[in-house]
Amino acid sequence: MADKKRYERPVINKHYSGLMNKFGSRPTTQPKTEIDGVTINELVEKYGSPLYVYSEKQIRINQRNALRIFKTRYPKVQFAWSYKTNYLSAICSVFHKEGSWAEVVSEFEYDKARKLGIKGENIIFNGPDKSRNALLKAIKEKAKIHIDHFDELYEIIELTEEHKLKAQVAIRVNMDVGVYPKWDRFGFNYENGEAGQALKRIMMNPNLQIVGLHAHIGTYMMTAEAYRIAASKLALLARFLKDEYDVAVSYIDLGGGFASHNTLIGQYLPAEEVVPSMEQFAEAISAGLYELNFKVDEMPTLILETGRALIDNTGHLISTVLANKRLSSGRRALIIDAGVNLLFTGFWYKHPVSPAQDSGVNIEDTTIYGPLCMNIDVIRETINFPSLRKGDKVVIDYVGAYDNTQWMQFINMRPNVVMVMEDGTVELIRKAENLDYILDREVLPEKLKLK
Ligand SMILES: *Cc1c(COP(=O)(O)O)cnc(C)c1O
Repeated sequence: MADKKRYERPVINKHYSGLMNKFGSRPTTQPKTEIDGVTINELVEKYGSPLYVYSEKQIRINQRNALRIFKTRYPKVQFAWSYKTNYLSAICSVFHKEGSWAEVVSEFEYDKARKLGIKGENIIFNGPDKSRNALLKAIKEKAKIHIDHFDELYEIIELTEEHKLKAQVAIRVNMDVGVYPKWDRFGFNYENGEAGQALKRIMMNPNLQIVGLHAHIGTYMMTAEAYRIAASKLALLARFLKDEYDVAVSYIDLGGGFASHNTLIGQYLPAEEVVPSMEQFAEAISAGLYELNFKVDEMPTLILETGRALIDNTGHLISTVLANKRLSSGRRALIIDAGVNLLFTGFWYKHPVSPAQDSGVNIEDTTIYGPLCMNIDVIRETINFPSLRKGDKVVIDYVGAYDNTQWMQFINMRPNVVMVMEDGTVELIRKAENLDYILDREVLPEKLKLK
């Protein structure tokens, strides 16, 4: 097999070989043959294709780096893992073992965090949809409830009265940070005084204990300055609470949203050249917080709910070439066994794709399609790629954020997910779905059954 020559039906095409661009000569494609020392072949043999692979080592490195970068600039820092970015139990648990709390946005995520052993007091409960039942549970378990709107505030007040309980609350604040469109559908607005109003109502109620202030200004944010503005506006609200009510909030939570190094479709330069570094985000946030001269013993803890920037580069998707094609235009196309069903973020990002074996130098502008019977199933619209054979493997990088929460079971079922552990072993962390898994949730009415 390996010594068989690559053959492709001849086509006449414009020749680009050796083309120079502003970054130098055209790139050669390096094969990616392993992940953390485990070969792609070994992984596929054992766990099949397509296959999601995570690196425990990289997750820990990312989290430790982020903590160090923030702690050198601001002394009190606590991370809370954003469940919706990736709530596979093994992933959450690595973050929890690194000391992160849980940041959840639904009752399901709340219950998952509790099941993983996180105490209520270490759960930050965000989001516009918290059922009465979920709120009551969160109040009882002393979770930090980040109130999104007045109806939620009233419901919490009712519940605390009804059950004679006290609730630990914060408010989510939305504000103008110079990035448009503004995310003003979540939380209370800063500029129009709504946030101040909400705080006053909380302070009037003996059952509510204000513990923090929260903002999550957007996702894949490409400016650090927006975070400085957000931090300084939350610090001003903290000062208001101190001056008016002599209350020092125990934390200021700047949410998530730092851009990862995945490159957006339509972005010309690679992400690592255009998005701010973690240091720049940290510098901006601490500058915003230091604008208010908190007394040392009253300095609020800085909470961060960073999601994508901590997980994106730790996930890889291995996929197998199903077919080579020439489109009617003469363009080369590749069909692989992972589509947008598994790579929802393919709609936004130009994920790096590498061949997993030596694939020669016959590089050509190629479109990579997934296996679905839908025209929109495109993994890469355009990529310089060597010619691969049916059965060859490719590795898609930067798939750790949102893909394993937004993937869908469409036409094909979801595949295995494994983690390469720090000690070099490989653990299965989510089993591939099968027909029984699907049928388990379905109910076929008796009268529709075929005899
Ligand atoms: C989604 C979300 C996060 C994480 O956002 P990333 O862009 O993944 O960093 C943090 N906080 C809240 C409230 C969120 O909704």
